[in-house]
Amino acid sequence: MIDILSYLGKYKARVALTLLYNLLNALFSVVSFSAIIPFLKILFDRAENKNSEANDLGDGMLATINQWFDIFIIERGTRDALFVFCIAVVVLFLVRNVFRYLAQHQMAFLRNAVVRDIRESVFFKLLRLPMSFYTSERKGHIYSRFTNDVAEIEWSVMGALDALFKQPVLILSYLVTLVFISWQLTIFVLVVLPIAGIIIGRIGKSLKRTAKKGQEELGQVVSMVEETVGGIRIVKGFGAEERFKEQFSVMNNKHFRLMVRLFRKQYLASPTSETLSILTVAMILWFGGNLVLEGRMLNGEMFILYIAIFSQMISPSRSLTEAFARVQRGISASERIDEILDADEQVLELKDAVEVPAFTSEIEFKEVGFKYEDEWVLEDINLTIKHGESIALVGPSGGGKSTLVDLLPRFYDIQAGSIQLDGVELNKLKVAELRGLFGIVSQQSVLFNDSVRNNLLVGNPNATDEEVIDALHAANAHGFVMALPEGMDTLVGESGNKLSGGQKQRLSIARAILKNPPILIMDEATSALDTESERLVQEALSEVMKGRTSFVIAHRLSTVSQVDRIVVIEKGRIAEMGTHDELMKNGGLYLRLVELQEIDR
Ligand code: ADP
Repeated sequence: MIDILSYLGKYKARVALTLLYNLLNALFSVVSFSAIIPFLKILFDRAENKNSEANDLGDGMLATINQWFDIFIIERGTRDALFVFCIAVVVLFLVRNVFRYLAQHQMAFLRNAVVRDIRESVFFKLLRLPMSFYTSERKGHIYSRFTNDVAEIEWSVMGALDALFKQPVLILSYLVTLVFISWQLTIFVLVVLPIAGIIIGRIGKSLKRTAKKGQEELGQVVSMVEETVGGIRIVKGFGAEERFKEQFSVMNNKHFRLMVRLFRKQYLASPTSETLSILTVAMILWFGGNLVLEGRMLNGEMFILYIAIFSQMISPSRSLTEAFARVQRGISASERIDEILDADEQVLELKDAVEVPAFTSEIEFKEVGFKYEDEWVLEDINLTIKHGESIALVGPSGGGKSTLVDLLPRFYDIQAGSIQLDGVELNKLKVAELRGLFGIVSQQSVLFNDSVRNNLLVGNPNATDEEVIDALHAANAHGFVMALPEGMDTLVGESGNKLSGGQKQRLSIARAILKNPPILIMDEATSALDTESERLVQEALSEVMKGRTSFVIAHRLSTVSQVDRIVVIEKGRIAEMGTHDELMKNGGLYLRLVELQEIDR
């Protein structure tokens, strides 16, 4: 519970206010219930004029109030008093409800503030976490952390507030009142009630267990039907109907017997618990009634008030156990969220990181080795890329091409060898500056649910409209953007789904152009497109690559023949390297890949 409450740490004042309102709510609940006493007095004509004498309740606070009612009724006359009490009841209940609402008013803030805070810290953390955190398994879970688990925590925060600041306050105030009215009866109740409560609770638990088993068995029956229908051809073809009939009947009957038992138990449960409750109530009535009849400890009106307040205690007691269960569930949810919040951020930047050089000479891979987990994905990579050179990475899929280019912006860090930019190790550079060198266009064009203009401005927030338009021109995208209903201000929809694949890709390219990076990385930028879009995108790309150092990963080899150098990567190693013509002459892997693709066509 401490864990859950820590989410509320920032809002101590509001939590205190909630507690205060709950206290006032409890106080006024007790007071407004006590208002039945004068009514009973009036209706049964029980007001006794005993002015200064102590009445039969002794001379405590209750006796004083009792007396005061008596005097009021006698002095004002019953009709007048009735009217005054009616007004008083309305006012009392009104005040009580105002406090109840005020408490909830704070709760509305608290539960949502907690949700907001958790979502914010998780999201901010997600942005800080390294790429290596995002395994496909984790990606799947992140959304459920954001929705289900946060909702669980919301409920459990409510549960914790309830369990600490609301139900106990109510229960205690009622209990104190009960003790006030008659401590003898209260002791009696406290002995009898738990016994009944435990028995009733046992019955409920057993019912739940049987119901769960019933669900499981029904699941088996249903999955057998599914299996049979799905494989009906085989069942009939092999003449296995009889066997399936038997199997099904056994299962179906087992479920039948269980359900009969479940329903019998269920039908038995409510008469049993009702009888038990009535037994308990009867015992209380017997004991309390005796006290009344004996005449010294309790009078009739007080006894009725006692029963009324006692009945009010049942619901908060139930809510209290529920609240604890909610807190339990929230704790597991918060542990799951902590897996994200406590994940290692792997600070990338050294304390004495240096500014990125202008990049005028070369990038050099020396003996580079890299693994995601246990297996080497890249090994022994030696490669020098001159400033302004364009190289293509080709080879069978899974060879490590994407991984190799991911090493440049330090999405991942190498485990062996070194990568240098103009002679400086990448990991000595300032990360943000290093990443600023690259424009990345990937196979999956990534657009955000925003306007065309804002999607482009991600590349360079300070760009002017003219620059945006120039970038659109260069990316072969100006024409279609202008034809959109609101031009550059058109919203592209979620993940850009209002645009075609080629259009999205050309916008991604325009974004990279707007950033005007010295180094371009294009990872299968045209693979997902049809021939016509591919031509348009390819044209755009050739335009962008002019005068820039570029890395092109391409599946279709026809698209890379114009680059300065082709590097063939197979199973994490450089298999061969050279121009298109050289490699064709070599007669190695490249030639085979080209031949394979020609047959394909
Ligand atoms: P290519 O781009 O040549 O198709 P990749 O660089 O995508 O190859 O993948 C190289 C190898 O690394 C593959 O065996 C792939 O399964 C593995 N791999 C890629 N990304 C990850 C990752 N995030 N975590 C673990 N293994 C990965």
